[in-house]
Amino acid sequence: MANKNEKYKIKHFPKQSQPAPGLQNRMSPIPDDGAASYIGHDRLKHKKALITGGDSGIGRAVAIAYAHEGADIVLNYLPEEASDAQEVQGIIESLGQQIKLVPGDLKSESFNQKLVNEAVAFLGDINVLVLVAGKQQAEIDITNLSTQQLTDTYATNVFSLVWLIKAALPHLPPNSSIITTNSIQADQPSSFLVDYAGTKAAIKNMTISLAKQFSNRGIRVNSISPGPIWTPLQISGGQLPENIPNFGQSTPLGRAGQPAELAGAYVFLASDESNYITGESIKVTGGL
Ligand code: NAD
Ligand code: MG
Repeated sequence: MANKNEKYKIKHFPKQSQPAPGLQNRMSPIPDDGAASYIGHDRLKHKKALITGGDSGIGRAVAIAYAHEGADIVLNYLPEEASDAQEVQGIIESLGQQIKLVPGDLKSESFNQKLVNEAVAFLGDINVLVLVAGKQQAEIDITNLSTQQLTDTYATNVFSLVWLIKAALPHLPPNSSIITTNSIQADQPSSFLVDYAGTKAAIKNMTISLAKQFSNRGIRVNSISPGPIWTPLQISGGQLPENIPNFGQSTPLGRAGQPAELAGAYVFLASDESNYITGESIKVTGGL
C-alpha cells in the first residue's frame, strides 16, 4: 500500500504570494481538496450544512467531503473569491447534492444575519454550522500592527463567530453540531501572529463555553485545531514569505498537511458518531 505521508511530502514549495484573501486556483501546487480521493459513506445523509470560508483550503475540502457524505450545502466566502467558489459548486453538483453560494463579508454583523436568512430559505433547518473563515496576516513587530488589522482580525475570527451563531441558533434543531476552527497557534503562538494567535485561543475557549450553554438544547459545539496546512491563507500574507519554501517541514511528520486531510475530522464532528463529544478540540497537526 502507498505511504500517504510520502505521497503528500513536498520538499520545497515554490516561492509565491498573492494579495489576501488569495485564490486556490492560482497556487502552485494546487492544494488537494479531496474531490478525487474522498470516499463517502452516507454519514451525513439528509443533513444540511452552512460552511464559511468554503471556497478554498480547509473549508472547501470540508464542503466537498460533506457532499460526498450526502449533505446539502450553503457556502460563504468573500466576493473576490468567486472563481474558487464556482469550482466548488461544480464539484458538489456533480456529486448530486444541492449547493447555494452566498458571498459576503462576515465582518459585518448584518451580513451574518443575511447569510443565515439565505441559508434557511435554501436548506430549511441547519444541522451543521461549520465556521472555517479566518483572517491571518503576519506582522513581525507590534509597533507596526495597525488598529485596522487588529479589528479586522478580531471581527472576522471572533466577533463573526458570535454573530453567526446568534443568528443561526433558532434554526439549529436538537442533534445539530457547531464546529469552529482554531489553530495550533492557540497553544503555540508564533511571535509574528500576535493578533491572529489570540483570536484562535479565544475561539478554542468560546467553544467550551458554548458547548456548556447549548447542552440542554441538544446542540454540540466542537473545534478543529489545524497545524500547517497548504492553503491560500498562508501565501497571501499569513506566513512570512521566507517561510513558504519550508512550510510545515518542522512537524514530526516532516511536511505540511493538505486540506483533504482535515475533512475526516470535520465529518466525524458533524456526524451522529460523535454524539457524546462536546466542548472538544481535535488536533490535526502532523504531530505538533
Ligand atoms: P483559506 O484562505 O483557504 O480560507 C480562509 C477563508 O476565510 C477564505 O477562503 C475566505 O473565504 C474566508 N474569509 C476571510 N475573511 C473573511 C471575511 N471577512 N468574510 C468572509 N469570509 C472571510 O485558508 P485556510 O487555511 O483553509 O483557512 C481556514 C481556517 O483554518 C481559518 O480559520 C484558519 O485560521 C484556520 N487554520 C489554518 C491553518 C493553515 O495552516 N492553513 C492552520 C490553523 C488554522
Ligand atoms: Mg479562499
